Amino acid sequence: MNSKIWLSSPHIGGSEQRYIKEAFDSNWVAPIGLNIDHFEDSLQSYIGEDKRCVALNSGSSAIHLALVLLGVSVGSEVLCQSFTFVASANPILYLGATPIFIDSEKETWNICPIELEKCIIERISKGKNLKAIIVTHSYGMPYKADQLNEVSEKYNIPIIEDAASALGSSFKNQQCGTFGNFGVFSFNGNKIITTSSGGALICNSDKEKEKAIFLATQARDNAPHYQHSEVGYNYRMSNICAGIGRGQMEVLGKHIQFRREMHQFYIKLFRKIGKVSVFKEPSPDFHSNFWLSAILLESFEKREALRLHLERDNIESRPLWKPMHLQPIFNKYPFYGGYVAEQLFEKGLCLPSGSNLTIIEKDGIKRSITSFFKA
Ligand SMILES: *Cc1c(COP(=O)(O)O)cnc(C)c1O
Repeated sequence: MNSKIWLSSPHIGGSEQRYIKEAFDSNWVAPIGLNIDHFEDSLQSYIGEDKRCVALNSGSSAIHLALVLLGVSVGSEVLCQSFTFVASANPILYLGATPIFIDSEKETWNICPIELEKCIIERISKGKNLKAIIVTHSYGMPYKADQLNEVSEKYNIPIIEDAASALGSSFKNQQCGTFGNFGVFSFNGNKIITTSSGGALICNSDKEKEKAIFLATQARDNAPHYQHSEVGYNYRMSNICAGIGRGQMEVLGKHIQFRREMHQFYIKLFRKIGKVSVFKEPSPDFHSNFWLSAILLESFEKREALRLHLERDNIESRPLWKPMHLQPIFNKYPFYGGYVAEQLFEKGLCLPSGSNLTIIEKDGIKRSITSFFKA
């Protein structure tokens, strides 16, 4: 059998090991050092908008810290896109707050601004304490930032932008990660660039960045001994991992180009086959990195049949996210909306999208999918 074709696997550029060696040579094998400084600087200059980046050990940690920085605690409600990865919602529970889930719209698969506003009006009328809105750029597709910022400003509820998989995506030429009051990136092994595990919190000022670093390094007060007056965390990125990140930033542009080419590959393939819709940018305002290419089939049964067919050919694919409001851990919390997210889950499939897929692998994917639809 051929070796497995993965959905999205790490793609190393070339300079990563040199930066790691620098860390060893200078003995900064620690969560502090030049690689971290350089990685943060290069992220900052890449996304622009005068933002500040804090390198952390995961995207999940970044979401948790954003909630802490916004004062979320027991008694707070946090509005959250239901159609997302579980890491967007878990940190709400870490803090003892209540998640309120909201459906998606059909164009970008991200939080529906109309449902969001309806939800806010109702929760406020019930006297609830709404502290934050968590919105995800699903699979790299930018959310409707104009409309969502309008709702956020109208009701004065800050947005945490889960751009975990959207580094390099943009909306109206502004980089994802820079729209929210806080932004989040992930550099997990399956993301568009990797630090093996890692993440970043995007802030608006040096002051916020300092506070985030303070919280991420055990909240140590300014004293010669260990003195603490707040709960802290151990969330900083290692200088070794940041070396990988430095190298990965040099190839980010290439990775995006390859992922967008994979998307075009599926557009062409399914144009011939028909019956399947490929997830696309709704207008030229939206520029997706197409971290994952995704399709919608006519039914749940057809989606499962294709998934199993690919699995037999040793090709990994994965159903779209199961919405949070349908997850056993979250199904007791309120949900606002209809069946958009649920339908995406039932009919949707993510296909191999890595920037390192070879011509032979792409050919294998094409043959497997074509044979499925011929049968
Ligand atoms: C990957 C991902 C995360 C979590 O990031 P980690 O670095 O794995 O903790 C959060 N949200 C979304 C949408 C993701 O895709």
